[in-house]
Amino acid sequence: MLVTTKDMLLDAQRNHYAVGAFNIEDLEFVIAVVRAADEMRSPVILQTTPGSVKYADLDYFYGMVSAAAKKTHVPVALHLDHGDGFKLCMEAIHAGYTSVMIDGSHDPFETNIAITSSVARVGAAMGIPVEAELGKVGGKEDDGKDAGDDNPFTDPDEAVEFVQKTGCTSLAVGVGTAHGVYKGTPHIEQDVLKAIAARVDIPLVLHGTSGVPDEQVKEAIQNGVCKVNYATELRQAYMRGFMSFMAENPDVFDPKKPAACGMKEIENVVRSHMQNLGSDGKA
Ligand SMILES: [Zn+2]
Repeated sequence: MLVTTKDMLLDAQRNHYAVGAFNIEDLEFVIAVVRAADEMRSPVILQTTPGSVKYADLDYFYGMVSAAAKKTHVPVALHLDHGDGFKLCMEAIHAGYTSVMIDGSHDPFETNIAITSSVARVGAAMGIPVEAELGKVGGKEDDGKDAGDDNPFTDPDEAVEFVQKTGCTSLAVGVGTAHGVYKGTPHIEQDVLKAIAARVDIPLVLHGTSGVPDEQVKEAIQNGVCKVNYATELRQAYMRGFMSFMAENPDVFDPKKPAACGMKEIENVVRSHMQNLGSDGKA
């Protein structure tokens, strides 16, 4: 069933686990992620970046995800990841998305507050949860420009003020993770996370989690993270399955065959993360 992220994240917060948010690129990702959630009896968030929305559009993703959600009893949410403005957030809500992120983290603090508040006000009126971001997650999100080594951590005092002034319902924080593929072993600043969680009572969100060791993610959940995003690992898994099938069967021209191998790889990745996040058996 298609639901909002509200109860999902509050239950995760109360019971010290996290819900995985998996970026979907096409129909195969939708089928594979929901199949894994159904098998694991886990709540799940499927999300699309503005880049994926440009590739298909909001209506296609809503159509696919709502169809998948009808086939399972586990709660499924459809979330706009890194919404880049008021307009796209409104279009997503209008298209049937059950959760949105407005990312004003590249703007100055006051501008971020203004743009986040404008979306959060509508979200509150329409019953749609609104994730915001404060501080910076490093690397390159979607097809935007690379944040490089510019990776300032979220300031706990600013986080308190930001949440109070904007009314956002969950907060993505900069605690050392980055989007894309890591060069070395990533390191989550658990102390920064603890300091934020001690003062902010809404669920915290971890971005750029592909490639972060499971133990660090587990610790972050104990320190207040309730939603964990995975994009890069799913893309890699899908292409790994797809390409290795084609390497062995270069003459096959039925796309369903390599796609099925890609989907299997995605399912494995998603199942293993659900176990680590502790969301398995929660639905
Ligand atoms: Zn992100």
